[in-house]
Amino acid sequence: MTTDQKIWANSGDSHLMEPHDIFRENLPPRFADRMPRGVLDEDGQFETISVDGQEFRRKVPFAKRPMVDPETGRGVFERAPGSNDMRLRIKDLNQEGVWGELVYTSIGMWMHSMRDPLLMLAGCEVINDWAIEYQRFSSRYVCTAMIPTLSLETALSEVERSADMGFKIAMLPTSPTLAGPNWNKDDWHPLWALLAETGMHVGFHAGSDPHEADTFNGTYHRGPGGHLLNYYEASYHMQLAAAKLVASGVFERHPTLKCVVSEGGATWVPFMADRLDEAYRQHVNQVWPKFNRLPSEYLFENVYASFQHDRSAPQALVAMGYRNVCWGSDYPHLEGTFGHTQETLHGLVDNLTAAQRDRILKGAFQELFPHVPPPPEDGTEPPEGGA
Ligand code: MN
Repeated sequence: MTTDQKIWANSGDSHLMEPHDIFRENLPPRFADRMPRGVLDEDGQFETISVDGQEFRRKVPFAKRPMVDPETGRGVFERAPGSNDMRLRIKDLNQEGVWGELVYTSIGMWMHSMRDPLLMLAGCEVINDWAIEYQRFSSRYVCTAMIPTLSLETALSEVERSADMGFKIAMLPTSPTLAGPNWNKDDWHPLWALLAETGMHVGFHAGSDPHEADTFNGTYHRGPGGHLLNYYEASYHMQLAAAKLVASGVFERHPTLKCVVSEGGATWVPFMADRLDEAYRQHVNQVWPKFNRLPSEYLFENVYASFQHDRSAPQALVAMGYRNVCWGSDYPHLEGTFGHTQETLHGLVDNLTAAQRDRILKGAFQELFPHVPPPPEDGTEPPEGGA
């Protein structure tokens, strides 16, 4: 591959930006007022996310250049042109060389910090009704269905409804609730069974942990290195969520169920496989349940890991035998690759074999979502229309 040839890649980690009035347009005010919303401080440096009466304060982690909206005087994010437009988005993708996309929500991820199951169900329904229109616009968009996990009943009803609507993947938080039974507990057996039955995959995304404002604003990592520690810990929560599915036998019971871990790198998978296998072999008396295969086999086969910039990630496949390494753009978030996608891709894969390159940039995604048409040949421009 020459360094100036256009590379095409599928993305295992992208986002849609919900319209700011999505809840007001679709819910009575007494519900809409309690839905997640973010407001930037005037200088664009801090953000307050309000979720059902709780307020989460954080320094904006990705304001490369703080910008101020001249009309309102408030801080705004600088976004890619197609951020809020499903048609313009195709132009951005074509320019960057991104073909199919697994598309998560943005503000919707804060829904997991709600505490009222029926309110959360109402919010997820609104976002999913909007996201499915997005998905229907282009065969290149694979949108995630937000699943309300504060109760099993609401989770099951929204999985069933979203599968009927055509969603192929359910977004779950890294823990279903703050205090209730976690993903490894038997309580969730019906959820995994229903996902397997409907053929929907599971998507875990960084930052989707349920939070409580007191903890978030108080004891969350602060002080020297605070931001780096928080960023690292966000990937750790996703790893643990995947480990819970493996260790409790979810994939043993449902071998067709697949889980994507987005925005958390890839080399943690072979690392975790070693940890789990060692315990499984050496601690025979303590391990339960027992499996027909080693934990590493479920991890390597049922779990896919999407990364953006990680220089080490291709080595998870090349040197460690983990084939489900999947690149992702994180479009249109500013920690993603918009504006430098081609440079990033060339840097990551130019020294790989064609088979390795194809697996990471195209094949792993296509295995998850075979209904998405394959990307154009490398070095070519997209077909007319391209949607
Ligand atoms: Mn992302």
